[in-house]
Amino acid sequence: MTLRSKPLMMSLLRHSRDRQSEMVRLLGEFVRCESPSHNKAAVDRFARIVAREWRRRGATVRVLTQKKRGDLVRAELWLGEGKPDGQIMVLGHLDTVYPLGTISGMPFHVTNGCAWGPGTFDMKGGIVLALFAADALRKAQCKPRNRLVFLWTSDEEIGSEDSRRAIESEARRSEAVLVLEPSLGRDGRLKTARKGVGMAEIVVTGKSAHAGIDPENGVNAVHELALQIARLMKLNDPRRGITVQSTVISGGTVSNVVPEGARAEVDIRYARMADARRLDRALHRIRPILKGARVEVRGGINRPPLERTAAVQELFHHAQSLMREAGLSLNEAATGGGSDGNLTGALGVATLDGLGAVGDGAHSPRERVMIRRLPERAALLAGLLATL
Ligand SMILES: [Zn+2]
Repeated sequence: MTLRSKPLMMSLLRHSRDRQSEMVRLLGEFVRCESPSHNKAAVDRFARIVAREWRRRGATVRVLTQKKRGDLVRAELWLGEGKPDGQIMVLGHLDTVYPLGTISGMPFHVTNGCAWGPGTFDMKGGIVLALFAADALRKAQCKPRNRLVFLWTSDEEIGSEDSRRAIESEARRSEAVLVLEPSLGRDGRLKTARKGVGMAEIVVTGKSAHAGIDPENGVNAVHELALQIARLMKLNDPRRGITVQSTVISGGTVSNVVPEGARAEVDIRYARMADARRLDRALHRIRPILKGARVEVRGGINRPPLERTAAVQELFHHAQSLMREAGLSLNEAATGGGSDGNLTGALGVATLDGLGAVGDGAHSPRERVMIRRLPERAALLAGLLATL
């Protein structure tokens, strides 16, 4: 990693600032083309718009067609001379959490210096940044030594089951992965550590009986579940970054019957992979406490944590020095939420996450991005792509 001169960042920033209103206009077009994860036709429609924008910028574009989920878009850009030294991957997603039609009650609009609407922040704003970063690179006549590969996936918001293979195989070919997920807070902190995520379901089967006449013939599934939940709570260790939350429970039928069935969903977060394996074993070792009860555990560890390795720190410090050259500050943070960055980080590829827009209200009716901050984020991404 070598640092170019201060003029580079200043020129990238200037070119990006010149395009601020175009960035907002394109973001509006993106947001109006709704793309909920579960609606393949809608995500495909948006994928075609994104593919069109990359073709306009001279990228080699491949649409990776999917059976169940929306299609993925892979755009490759080589701005250097001769042969590239390697590859840098930029990662983001096309899908949003908002069902089709949300836009009519939550239309895209601009007020108070922000652009509002479903998916502005998470993360159509991030896709816009990447497109204008590519423009700024050309305008500043940068010649990166690496091939740039932009991968836009289609099911991040629902666990990335179908995109995972494409993400991992592209990441394995890359020297670094830059993730355009929303940044954190008003100062746009990058995310250098993310907890891993597990999802488990505890299913208890007991035996029903009349609660008044012969309760002794029953096995109370709700009692069994309550005892199991109390035990699970003891796995919490916030100082180590471990949280275990029972989030959804159900059980029983009517008030005077000893319940035969009960179930709970459990959300598990961990900062270290070693803890993930230990938690997984603990979960699957669960045995019934009440006589005659049966307990089944489904699921377990889903996403690995994104650990703040030396390579991640080095990437962050590089990003920070680029921003300093542009006269701006940049900070980092850890978060409990997972992203596709967790997948690439777990492969041992240096991953820098939270490089997306500065804003607030992801997954809510108040989702927005700060317009004034769009150009500097585009310049930051361009600076990274130019110098890594
Ligand atoms: Zn996201």
